[in-house]
Amino acid sequence: MAKYVYLFTEGNATMRNLLGGKGANLAEMTNIGLPVPQGFTITTEACTQYYEDGRTINDEIMAEIMKYVEIMEKINGKKFGDLKNPLLVSVRSGARASMPGMMDTILNLGLNDEVVAAMIAGNPDPKFERFVYDSYRRFIQMFSDVVMEVGKKYFEQLIDKMKEEKGVQYDIELNAADLKKLAEQFKAEYKKQLGQDFPSDPKVQLYEAIRAVFRSWDNPRANVYRRDNDIPYSWGTAVNVMPMVFGNLNNNSGTGVAFTRDPATGEKKLMGEFLVNAQGEDVVAGVRTPMPITEMAERFPEAYADFSRVCNILENHYRDMQDMEFTVENGKLYMLQCRNGKRTAQAALKIACDLVDEGMRTPEEAVLMIDPRNLDTLLHPQFDAKALKSAQQIGKGLGASPGAACGQIVFTADDAEKWKNAGKKVVLVRLETSPEDITGMKAAQGILTVRGGMTSHAAVVARGMGKCCVSGCGEIVMDEANKKFTLAGKTYHEGDVISIDGSTGKIYDGAVPTVDAKVEGEFGRIMSWADSFRKLHVRTNADTPRDAKKARELGAEGIGLCRTEHMFFDPQRISAFREMICADTKAEREKALDKIMGMQQGDFEELFEAMEGNPVTIRFLDPPLHEFVPTEEAEIALLAEVQGKSVEAIKAVIQGLHESNPMMGHRGCRLTVTYPEIAVMQTKAVIRAAINTKKKHPDWKIVPEIMIPLVGEAKEFSYVKKIVVEVADAEIKAAGSDLKYEVGTMIEIPRAALTADEIAKEAEFFCFGTNDLTQMTFGFSRDDAGKFLPAYYDTKIYENDPFAKLDQTGVGKLMKMAVTLGRSVRPGMECGICGEHGGDPTSVEFCHKIGLSYVSCSPYRVPIARLAAAQAAIKDRG
Ligand code: PEP
Ligand code: MG
Repeated sequence: MAKYVYLFTEGNATMRNLLGGKGANLAEMTNIGLPVPQGFTITTEACTQYYEDGRTINDEIMAEIMKYVEIMEKINGKKFGDLKNPLLVSVRSGARASMPGMMDTILNLGLNDEVVAAMIAGNPDPKFERFVYDSYRRFIQMFSDVVMEVGKKYFEQLIDKMKEEKGVQYDIELNAADLKKLAEQFKAEYKKQLGQDFPSDPKVQLYEAIRAVFRSWDNPRANVYRRDNDIPYSWGTAVNVMPMVFGNLNNNSGTGVAFTRDPATGEKKLMGEFLVNAQGEDVVAGVRTPMPITEMAERFPEAYADFSRVCNILENHYRDMQDMEFTVENGKLYMLQCRNGKRTAQAALKIACDLVDEGMRTPEEAVLMIDPRNLDTLLHPQFDAKALKSAQQIGKGLGASPGAACGQIVFTADDAEKWKNAGKKVVLVRLETSPEDITGMKAAQGILTVRGGMTSHAAVVARGMGKCCVSGCGEIVMDEANKKFTLAGKTYHEGDVISIDGSTGKIYDGAVPTVDAKVEGEFGRIMSWADSFRKLHVRTNADTPRDAKKARELGAEGIGLCRTEHMFFDPQRISAFREMICADTKAEREKALDKIMGMQQGDFEELFEAMEGNPVTIRFLDPPLHEFVPTEEAEIALLAEVQGKSVEAIKAVIQGLHESNPMMGHRGCRLTVTYPEIAVMQTKAVIRAAINTKKKHPDWKIVPEIMIPLVGEAKEFSYVKKIVVEVADAEIKAAGSDLKYEVGTMIEIPRAALTADEIAKEAEFFCFGTNDLTQMTFGFSRDDAGKFLPAYYDTKIYENDPFAKLDQTGVGKLMKMAVTLGRSVRPGMECGICGEHGGDPTSVEFCHKIGLSYVSCSPYRVPIARLAAAQAAIKDRG
């Protein structure tokens, strides 16, 4: 039979999965002899069972809980509902990973009218009476709010009214009679709201409270927090039932929270706050201003000395910065919680390095202590944390590209450029972005879009640029034509100021000041340790020399994906490219391609230069051609003029490019099959650029990797490869060079993964395009799925956006199969990934596990991938 309940004496720190973080640490603190009120933990499995049983606690589990209530009563010499020695408890959530403030807590449970009367009768001190009624009114309020979901506000209104009547400012100034009256009013409010009496049986109270904590695992804020923090829904929460100790007993009592090191900077010093005559929630709720912990040293010297001793014990025991909750009851210290404290990225790096220097941790352990996702904040300008607290949030989209941006709203790429040139800072707000917006995106401080997911054009391009972007904020009601939108009930016009946070996806009204991110010394230290442990190489997705240089600075070991089409979006080039698209004959097409070739060659040379002899993978033209043609009448007319054609003829070409499913249409290698001259031009540009660079830097290893997109059939790849090889070999021969090059393929169509052994006979390397592979495996569009995915999160069909976090079960299975099949034909074959997942930590770990050679991600994610790759390797070694 499963065991669902554990006394604190029965557990330990290693039982986190079963007991949750809080439960495991309460057990551990008990084991090492620290003062912990002795209670029990109901396991996370009981929570899972609660959901399996249709949100009820079954009889077996309930019976076990009641058995442990009796044991707890014996241990503490108090009894539930007893009139001599009543037991009061706290009921607290505690999941495997800490989710601060996301789930529910109930304090002072066990009180009812009789218990209250008996407690008061047993202690003649008038202050004690006040304390009892204070606890009672707190309990009724919390139970009503948390368990029965009666809004907190009704009770707060009653408290405010009472304070007003008494002419006082703080709760603490209310006397016993006031609090007694409040308790009565609260019970009446409860009845009014719910049509039933407040439950007086402590066992009923307990049952309901436990149920409420289980239920809170599924509350909306917990669900969002889990998605943001990679915490699976299946884990469930444990529940901790612990005898109360009272920080609100008298002025020789109080409650506090503290960190053993500064969670903002990492500095080694005790940080925290203490509130006299109060219970835990008062500190968090900010009812009164607590005193700094240093002041506690003067006012409660004994309890403070005891507490500092406990802090040292805990830090040495867990070998990490601790975040603790404690209570002093009548001068005596009790520990209510400890956990590894949450910290800023900067603090995380400093603490990890300090712990190594203090001999507490090895470099491997230090590397494992850093959450790779947090590094983001070190690489981009950030909102000033203090200013953010008072900023007014007006909406939320996807945190598509990290950073903080603040500026005046503009609605077109053109305006973004014009305003920037006039010295203004702008945020570009678009329904969605298209390749034509690129210069406007560059000019803007940040980009906000109504539509589009994590792999939408705006998101991919913004990440590449290291530009802040919030995408897919569907709450915006857009009126692009009139240059305005409505959000949170307010209409925003061109020129109004907003601020957007590309890490959290939050949108704020007005200007929130930013501060520059600094890359401090510890960052480099952790990164060099990470590099020494990882097996995966880390490359970057870069299309411009600027991105490539940035990525090198951040440690990229090559380019894993250069999307050559991005080079055509430049205004000077797009016209030549459009000429190519609108050409009627091969000769006309070649003429237009000739104009582009020199520019492409120049770009490639700069990329080779920036990569200093590291691998460079160049992907041939991929998107459907309609993405390049103009949509505005004026531009169409201009194109007709340049081409010497009629507007109608141009419109007919544009019309002809229309497809019902462009993402499954005439794109990728299909373009080469129909227009081989495009691949001919691109091959010449790559090979000539490589030969030139090799001449300039004979000591560099220049072996260009030519990558063919969207292959689904071995013969299709062979056909394209043949064209590439003929042109490349002829170029090399003509130049009298001995240049080596490789021709490989993207694996981004399920059929390519399924037939990877066939394809590997010709393809010299594989690179997984998991954006398309995800799209085609799931069968939904990467650009449109954002519309319905939220419903999938709500219903728990999916827990994460499969375009942001690799679907290891399905897409991952195809990848694993393709690697195995490919290497069965071509042993040791280089296999990488260049979809967005290449910069996502859990996806990187998966790539390590299936033996990929490298991950490639946007420049600002390179450090994240380096760290994630190191963590995967360290975990793998055990
Ligand atoms: C992909 O599909 O994963 C990929 C990298 O190519 P793109 O995003 O350019 O389609
Ligand atoms: Mg693709």
